[in-house]
Amino acid sequence: MSVPYSLEELTIGGKGSEQKASDKIPFIARPFVSERAKKTLDIVEKFVEEECIPADTVYQQQVGTSKQERWSAHPPIMDDLKKRAKELGIWNMFLPKNHFKEGAGFSNLEYGLMAEFLGKSTTASEATNCAAPDTGNMEVFAKYGTQEQKDRWLKPLLAGEIRSAFLMTEPEVASSDATNIALTITKEGDEYVLNGQKWWSSGAGDSRCQVYIVMGKSDPKNSNVYKQQSVIFVPFDTPGITIHRMLSVMGFDDAPHGHGHITFNNVRVPAANICLGEGRGFEVIQGRLGPGRIHHAMRSIGAAEKALEFFLARMNDPRKKPFGKQLYEHGVMLDRVAHSRIEIDASRLQVLNAAIMIDSKDAKFALKEIAEAKILVPDMLLKVLDRAMQAYGGAGVSQDTPLANMWAHGRTMRIVDGPDEVHAMQLGRNENKRGEYCLKKIEWQKKRAVEMAESYGMKKMDPLQLDREWSKVHDGKGNVDKAKL
Ligand SMILES: Cc1cc2nc3c(=O)[nH]c(=O)nc-3n(C[C@H](O)[C@H](O)[C@H](O)COP(=O)(O)OP(=O)(O)OC[C@H]3O[C@@H](n4cnc5c(N)ncnc54)[C@H](O)[C@@H]3O)c2cc1C
Repeated sequence: MSVPYSLEELTIGGKGSEQKASDKIPFIARPFVSERAKKTLDIVEKFVEEECIPADTVYQQQVGTSKQERWSAHPPIMDDLKKRAKELGIWNMFLPKNHFKEGAGFSNLEYGLMAEFLGKSTTASEATNCAAPDTGNMEVFAKYGTQEQKDRWLKPLLAGEIRSAFLMTEPEVASSDATNIALTITKEGDEYVLNGQKWWSSGAGDSRCQVYIVMGKSDPKNSNVYKQQSVIFVPFDTPGITIHRMLSVMGFDDAPHGHGHITFNNVRVPAANICLGEGRGFEVIQGRLGPGRIHHAMRSIGAAEKALEFFLARMNDPRKKPFGKQLYEHGVMLDRVAHSRIEIDASRLQVLNAAIMIDSKDAKFALKEIAEAKILVPDMLLKVLDRAMQAYGGAGVSQDTPLANMWAHGRTMRIVDGPDEVHAMQLGRNENKRGEYCLKKIEWQKKRAVEMAESYGMKKMDPLQLDREWSKVHDGKGNVDKAKL
């Protein structure tokens, strides 16, 4: 890989800028990170901090203001950033080397470390072709696609020429339980016919979004509810598809990618577009979501680091001195900084551990750790963001800092890819499998304590046991006969 880039310290400099990203890799993860990954990590950090974050505001301006502009925009700065990222060799880092030959040759852990920096900018993930939902979708094509499907969609996706959307959620059913998905996929000759509607189809607003990965019901009468669903690849311009409207996220439209509400009216797709085979939809969606959750989590940790940076900047802004003191002189603020630091670091360790476990075997091996990260990290991010926003006063909830937008985005992470409760339910159920063992073990330990006490000639007894009858030791006038106690 050619790296035509200076690896000097960030040019911004100043006290506190001494450490490069590779110097800050948590100690516990270091043995698993290659020298090549460390170099790339430093390049990613520099690219994000010096090129992408300044580009974020330019990108927003280039998206435009009117509805027409915002939903047809293709900001030129994104193409420039992509060109630059390709030159720097930071492209498609997300496809893990253990499982895919098409990626940049990094592990989940190594990409996780890079994804943290990508999470600090709204343009960096797309600029390096590591943006959701394309990353998960490319994994679907790479893992389950036929050669023909790969040539048609995976190739241009890997090259960053087109984008894609994943269509599972529906407005009429509780979609966090995927057995409810109701869009029909009916075989007619050598075609499938799709009827129904989808919403929260992220990325569908982008004019470059050329393929939809759609989940629907192909065999509603199958006695096994997990075999009723199929996943099929649908070209975006197939007749019968209408992007009915776009959905906002707490007032933000997320243009030009957005989140579509889409209707399917007798949409005919060649039978060859089925993914993996009829009735195998659950397999596909489960295979799609493992490492992707770690990516989300690592980006969220980067967002939390950015929030903390904003917090520190505000505390040290000499123009802002409530009650005659800078914010860092108000003890409560330092306490909030300390808690933010602890929570970010603890979350990072949790996520990196999950990534190492995926690398050492597969996503199934790290199922518990992935679910833990899915719940833990958004909760941490929202707390850290909330503290930073509070430190900015009114500015914190306005457009003058990125914090409000980051909070809205962070809040969706408790819903996206399944709400917290569903993951917690699964985690709780699995944890409770140890319940019978715990009960038996504790009873056994109590019994053993009695036996042990007896072996020392003692009767096991409660240290607070009194066996006292007041009538026998109390004279009723306030005097206690201590000898009888
Ligand atoms: C910004 C954003 C982007 C998204 N992108 C996509 C996308 O690209 N593609 C896609 O298909 N979907 C996408 N989604 C949709 C998302 O995956 C779903 O919203 C989510 O899975 C929940 O489904 P639902 O909205 O139908 O809620 P429901 O299933 O109706 O659930 C509503 C609520 O019920 C509660 N609940 C559910 N199950 C339980 C339980 N077992 N125990 C206790 N309480 C429970 C939870 O509080 C939950 O939030 C996106 C959502 C957002 C907000």
